[in-house]
Amino acid sequence: MNISRRAAAKGFLAAFAGGAGFGHGNPVSAADLRNAPQETLKTQVCVIGGGSGGTGAALAAARAGANVILLERESILGGTGTCAWVCVWQPIMGANGIPRDLHAVMKEDPSGVSDGDYARSGMAGRVKDGKWLPKNPGIVYEPRTFDYAAREMLEATGRCQTLLATTFCRARVDGDSIKTVEAWFAGKRLLIEADVFIDCTADGDVCADAGCEFHMGEDPRPLYDESSAPEQAAMSLNALTLCYRITDTGVPQKPYLPKGVKNGSCPLGACYTKMPNGDVVVNAVGMLKGNAILCMEHSRLMREAQRRVYAHFHSIQTESAGKTQWNTWTLSGIAPRIGVRETRRILGDYVLTENDCRGGLAKQSHKDIIAIADHAIDLHGKRGQHARLDGPYGIPYRCLLPKGVRNLMIASRAASFSHIAASSCRLQRTMMTLGQAAGNAVALAIKHRTDPRRIDVAELQARLQSQGVDITEPAGKAQVKG
Ligand SMILES: Cc1cc2nc3c(=O)[nH]c(=O)nc-3n(C[C@H](O)[C@H](O)[C@H](O)COP(=O)(O)OP(=O)(O)OC[C@H]3O[C@@H](n4cnc5c(N)ncnc54)[C@H](O)[C@@H]3O)c2cc1C
Repeated sequence: MNISRRAAAKGFLAAFAGGAGFGHGNPVSAADLRNAPQETLKTQVCVIGGGSGGTGAALAAARAGANVILLERESILGGTGTCAWVCVWQPIMGANGIPRDLHAVMKEDPSGVSDGDYARSGMAGRVKDGKWLPKNPGIVYEPRTFDYAAREMLEATGRCQTLLATTFCRARVDGDSIKTVEAWFAGKRLLIEADVFIDCTADGDVCADAGCEFHMGEDPRPLYDESSAPEQAAMSLNALTLCYRITDTGVPQKPYLPKGVKNGSCPLGACYTKMPNGDVVVNAVGMLKGNAILCMEHSRLMREAQRRVYAHFHSIQTESAGKTQWNTWTLSGIAPRIGVRETRRILGDYVLTENDCRGGLAKQSHKDIIAIADHAIDLHGKRGQHARLDGPYGIPYRCLLPKGVRNLMIASRAASFSHIAASSCRLQRTMMTLGQAAGNAVALAIKHRTDPRRIDVAELQARLQSQGVDITEPAGKAQVKG
């Protein structure tokens, strides 16, 4: 569904167009704006959002010599990975840049990551003699370890000022450029002036507030000629999950279902991730329909998700789920934030589509590939599908350039992807690699006194390759499927 800022100004979509976020927006009145204390900060690069994409972008830009301010509304870095407890890097190809560096720091904490061998983590499974060989679980990390390691690495650059608990609320646009972003910290208004801004908010809040066009939900087939797309556009978003953590007590536990929670009210299908300390994080994949993020007030949504967590855990405790019995396990925590797989997708100079994903590098002729990925097309919604790919595909640099704004880039799951392509390339290490590309690109733009759109992409690609990023299929690796 194609939504311009004006068209979205009515009804429940207004929050998206206004850049107010999803239940975390800062309800600031005009009087507050006049009276609140304020401070102006100046920098070369302002990265908004400190999740996977934002951490990669800030680190890459600062390492490349630019002065960076990183804004994050939570008090820890890592975004969905750390706050929604999706703390697993599924195996994928092409994550050999900053994610590998971060892993090297995280593994210094003996209970920080599940696997100290990074190379092994890229192997999702192999087809050998027509048989699918077992899947490597990827890398599992403790949220605190990600945050601590990322902060260490950013501090080591000496060029990045990380502002936590600071919420972006407005982009002040002049002509075709953003001049300043406004953010709030503890009742104080911050005005951040920068040469270039990178939107890593995951919802594309900065781009939307700057007036960029965006899409949401299923794209109609004629738009990108995608074989799996429906004929008509439909507002159907990938499902939501509130992850929870369980601990083995070693002794039988009494199953608990709070009053009013309906037995069996959450579908049983789930991914079970073993944490480094032996706990398990449960991701009940079809917990809530994706559109609930648009239609339900956020505290009601969280309440309903919590009920489903209890219902889900009760079901797996009382019924035998697969091979594992959970009767000695206890519910030790519920993630503070719901896991959102999809919201806006900002229209950029190029839109990555299902045809790119399925065609793979062999069939793509783009000259500006800055990252590769190979995760399956993975839709958990009305038209659910899990389609493995035959090999890696490339993501063009143009997907990171929102149309219409000169000094703005995007490096998050809200970048310029179709609904179907986003379901494949949204993984954390791919987002971090896109952040790495954006961070290097803005540093080049500043060095050459030009716009991100006008940099020499060959120079960017050479830089990324020198930092370990794969932009072609790595030689000598077995065929990988996600
Ligand atoms: C249930 C679920 C399971 C998944 N499973 C996997 C998996 O197994 N492996 C995998 O690799 N990926 C998985 N994914 C996908 C992956 O986690 C996300 O796509 C990825 O983390 C998105 O990264 P990002 O940088 O785009 O956004 P995020 O990591 O969400 O970062 C966005 C950041 O921006 C901040 N922000 C937002 N608005 C503002 C504002 N106004 N001001 C300041 N800061 C702001 C947020 O607080 C957040 O820190 C899963 C996702 C979900 C929901």
